[in-house]
Amino acid sequence: MTPSGAPAPFLVLDGLAKRFGGHTVLDGVALAVERGEVLALLGPSGSGKTTLLRLLAGFETPDAGRILVAGERLDTLPPARRNVGMVFQHYALFPHLSVGENVGFGLRLPRAEAAARVAAALASVDLEGFERRRVGEISGGQQQRVALARALAPEPRLLLLDEPLSNLDPTLRERTRRELRRALAKVGITTLLVTHEQEEAFHLGDRVAVLGGGRLHQVGTPEELYERPATRFVAGFVGRASALPGTFLGLEGAAARMRIVAGDTEVCWTGEAAEGLAAGQRVELLVRPEALELRPAGGFEALPGRVVERRYAGHGTYYTVALDGGTAEVEALAGPHTAAPGETVHVGLRRGTPLPRIFPLEGAA
Ligand code: ADP
Ligand code: MG
Repeated sequence: MTPSGAPAPFLVLDGLAKRFGGHTVLDGVALAVERGEVLALLGPSGSGKTTLLRLLAGFETPDAGRILVAGERLDTLPPARRNVGMVFQHYALFPHLSVGENVGFGLRLPRAEAAARVAAALASVDLEGFERRRVGEISGGQQQRVALARALAPEPRLLLLDEPLSNLDPTLRERTRRELRRALAKVGITTLLVTHEQEEAFHLGDRVAVLGGGRLHQVGTPEELYERPATRFVAGFVGRASALPGTFLGLEGAAARMRIVAGDTEVCWTGEAAEGLAAGQRVELLVRPEALELRPAGGFEALPGRVVERRYAGHGTYYTVALDGGTAEVEALAGPHTAAPGETVHVGLRRGTPLPRIFPLEGAA
């Protein structure tokens, strides 16, 4: 229990840091995961995701910070005593052993009990009766679930999954993702799942934590991350966004105003500002394609440009527009107005979409 009486989170990472040589890979990562929650850890390649899982499993030692599970230190225990299940990116199955032998590997239990555990673990991933099959003769998606069953068989208190679907070809990946989601819901175990793919993180995670440049930028539901990104990094990495440079004008109530110039046109657009911005400061507006619309040339409070690309995506058509004066290239989802590549158009903010976010311009004072 916390001092307020609320139950403490099941898994707590507290100021976790890891360096390799002089290179800081993780820098003060703090995170709390509830019991039974599936937390997706999303970050680009090289952002330290695998390192974080290895710290939890005990294959690496943190340079600073603590890991707590149910209020007790995990990071001081040897790996074998942590009772943590891990599924590696490449599954690490034994190809010459059967499915049942793989899942039961390392279980120190009487024979009948081990067999029951293996059967239960296979059932939890919808592979009942697969014990005698060879690993080499089942599909990639089934191998993925065998690796999951092997991690679950010792009944760990924590499950760690490293890019669980990255080995599969795209046609298998989506189906396996749904199966994985169902299996995780069924076992109800606290899970940390690492991925570099936003779609995967959004589908599998109850919440998503975004890692970049060694630090944790934001933890939230997919909606929170997409609609209210906390940092410039999250806005650019999670979902598509165009960046428009301009000048911060100040707050008007809760709304922030900024000036954007394209060629000889100047507009004053409204967004939601990061904290601590000063009037006159150089900033960037990060705006989703669906928050921008094409308008006929000459639109009010709209920026002039030229269509450089039109991309039909089934649910809509996306336009890339090069704004006048080289201000930026932006991506807009088509509204009622359409245009062909080469045509002159205006780009305006679409009403009724969440406010775009304003961040300090990187590299500017
Ligand atoms: P991710 O899983 O997000 O792609 P990793 O955790 O594998 O990232 O790696 C993060 C960074 O740490 C990379 O720059 C990688 O080269 C470095 N790194 C990881 N493990 C080691 C190690 N054992 N020794 C030195 N550098 C490492
Ligand atoms: Mg990795």
